[in-house]
Amino acid sequence: MIKSITFKRIMEKRSLLHFSGSYLHIIEEAIDFAQEVVTDYFKMSTSEWKGYRYEVKTQKFLDDIEITDRAFAQICKYECIKGKNSSPPLSFDLYRICLQDKNILRAVHNPLNKVKLKPLLLYIITHELSHVIRFSKYYKDFFAPPWEKESEEAKVHSITYEMLRSKGDQSLDYVLDYYRLHRWNDKYFTL
Ligand SMILES: [Zn+2]
Repeated sequence: MIKSITFKRIMEKRSLLHFSGSYLHIIEEAIDFAQEVVTDYFKMSTSEWKGYRYEVKTQKFLDDIEITDRAFAQICKYECIKGKNSSPPLSFDLYRICLQDKNILRAVHNPLNKVKLKPLLLYIITHELSHVIRFSKYYKDFFAPPWEKESEEAKVHSITYEMLRSKGDQSLDYVLDYYRLHRWNDKYFTL
């Protein structure tokens, strides 16, 4: 009896750290919103979007190698081959935005944080989509050396701020402020 109660409690706790149910609806809304925001900012046409292959996956659909404890999300790049038997085989790059459910939900459930799930997801997905567009449209190097990655990271945080700040949505204030030290600043001009 005691064992079964213990098991139930563990399962409840674990399920809180994975996106499911109503969380998935919030993620879909965040993806739609983020797509609109980056479409406007980068002046993307529908045909351009069709050329960019990306997907957003929650932790349930990730391989072990796509999971990290160090971020709310990370991007993995895959070269996909179409029609193995065609000559020559057609290939394309696929960017997978890997949401790290546990890290995101831990941050949201931490009583010391005031961050809410929806604004945090809006920030994360807008930020990661901006990376994808910069890799695809502006040929930023996915495999750049660390110092170049750091400066690209700061640039994308600055762009994300610019895009979301212009929406005038006060629910985003906390998350925008949280990332203020990640944005482009004087230290990057010395590189
Ligand atoms: Zn980033």
